[in-house]
Amino acid sequence: MHNPIKRILVMFILLHIVTVLSGCGDQRFLPSVFEQNIFCQHEWTRSTCLAPKTCTRCGATEGKIRSHEWGSTACNAPEGCIVCGTTEGMELTHTWREDARVCIYCGLDERPADDRFLDRLAEGLEAKWKVAAPLELDKKAEPTAEQMEQIVRAEYDLLAEFEQETFTDEALGELAHKYVRSIADTLEAIEVYGTEEWVDRYENGAYHRYTMALFGIHSMHPITVSEENQPKLEELLQHGEVIDMAYMLIDQVFFLDVSTSDALKKYETTIENTTSLTFTWFLFKIELTDEEGNLVEVKESKVYNWTPGQKVRFNFTTTKEFHSMDVTVANWELPLEN
Ligand SMILES: [Zn+2]
Ligand SMILES: [Zn+2]
Ligand SMILES: [Zn+2]
Repeated sequence: MHNPIKRILVMFILLHIVTVLSGCGDQRFLPSVFEQNIFCQHEWTRSTCLAPKTCTRCGATEGKIRSHEWGSTACNAPEGCIVCGTTEGMELTHTWREDARVCIYCGLDERPADDRFLDRLAEGLEAKWKVAAPLELDKKAEPTAEQMEQIVRAEYDLLAEFEQETFTDEALGELAHKYVRSIADTLEAIEVYGTEEWVDRYENGAYHRYTMALFGIHSMHPITVSEENQPKLEELLQHGEVIDMAYMLIDQVFFLDVSTSDALKKYETTIENTTSLTFTWFLFKIELTDEEGNLVEVKESKVYNWTPGQKVRFNFTTTKEFHSMDVTVANWELPLEN
């Protein structure tokens, strides 16, 4: 009934197929289709970030690769992945100061802009004075434009980032932005360093805004600098206070037409010296512009020996036709202290 030879042949073929399919010998000649071989008694390695679970016998893989296994993530000595060595994507662990989110190792500062700015402000001043110090020894020499740029940049580089930052305290933010912008304006004005325009743009412009902002910030949060630089800070703050008072006088300016003839126009405004300062002289600069905003004429109005509480009349005359006037710069001189 049965043909023994035929049965042996069938068994032989089956054995052969099993042997080939199991493939637990040499892997090199196995087509990829056999990689998920159900006949192999897989011996799995554990999955790592480099490879998924893999059979050491047939090379079959299963599942996905694992995420990295981080060693120490401390920011001062990060180990990275203990398998592949990468530090990419690793989240560092910081050691915060007791009083604030500032890392004692790497200095990462996660405090609000307000606190970071106030620290940086003092650092910026110190940096500026440090660059300026060797030049100040030589009192005769005015700094060159290049030296001036180095001085201004030393402070600006530390503060530039705060120009865009949002502060928790809006009032402080406004002063901080004003302060940083005044330094940026100074840097830009260096292109006209030593000229009349420099006096306008820096000495009677950016410097005023700089010291006023500094004075305002200091009034809210007293600034601390090194002892040796304390006199320099005080000088800046004094200027700021005086400039602040002087600028407030501009708010009172309201020039009225008091002309008695059409040819020569006369304008007047009465202002009370609401400051605690006696001005040797005080000057308003008035820019007259036409309807398109083009400058028609620049006038000055000046008074002398203006004492606290004293009301004085500022006036100017013009023969020009104009559309509007802007009081742009106030300048003054204080008596030299004895
Ligand atoms: Zn296997
Ligand atoms: Zn890894
Ligand atoms: Zn850190």
